[in-house]
Amino acid sequence: MNSPTHTLLALALLSKTGDRKRNWAVFAGSIIPDAVIYIWAPYQSLVNGVSGETLWRELYFAEPMQNLIAYFNSIPIYLSLALLGFIMRTKTWGKVILFFALAALTHMATDLPVHNHDAYRHFWPLSDWRFISPFSYYEREHHAGWVSLIEIFIALTSIFILWKRFPKLWVKIILGLLAAFYIALPIILRLMSLSIES
Ligand SMILES: [Zn+2]
Repeated sequence: MNSPTHTLLALALLSKTGDRKRNWAVFAGSIIPDAVIYIWAPYQSLVNGVSGETLWRELYFAEPMQNLIAYFNSIPIYLSLALLGFIMRTKTWGKVILFFALAALTHMATDLPVHNHDAYRHFWPLSDWRFISPFSYYEREHHAGWVSLIEIFIALTSIFILWKRFPKLWVKIILGLLAAFYIALPIILRLMSLSIES
């Protein structure tokens, strides 16, 4: 799914009013699986001058990117971390690791069912198997229309929960901007598919 959806859902499920360490752990755990892509892509285009076409059609599907994605999207790694954190949950660091790993697993749970030709090796290092889903969160030929409706519903519900949970103004400003993004998402997707077709 789109990165903000992972973060919104993880925070709605796992955050708690007044528990800053836990909330930042959830935030970090929800973005870490995609962070590697956000660091790598601008580096390739700005520093190495790679075109967008080469970047997303070739380099993305080659090494080292596919390996980095596998490391940061590994369900066995996050499950092990969650187990370690759970055992050590009475210590602050144990609780931080537990919520970090649970947020990353929430991310896995919402990526696994909606990646088709770009499926990840979610079971690395145990297996290189990729679950090729019949659904995609952005490819129209793989039901992206319906998937994005579900995604928008998840995101707006999470925004509603977080809006009620956190009274701080800066939180509400970010949530308001995100709500506007999700309401505009069907239009954005339509424009993107038009530009790909033309
Ligand atoms: Zn992801």
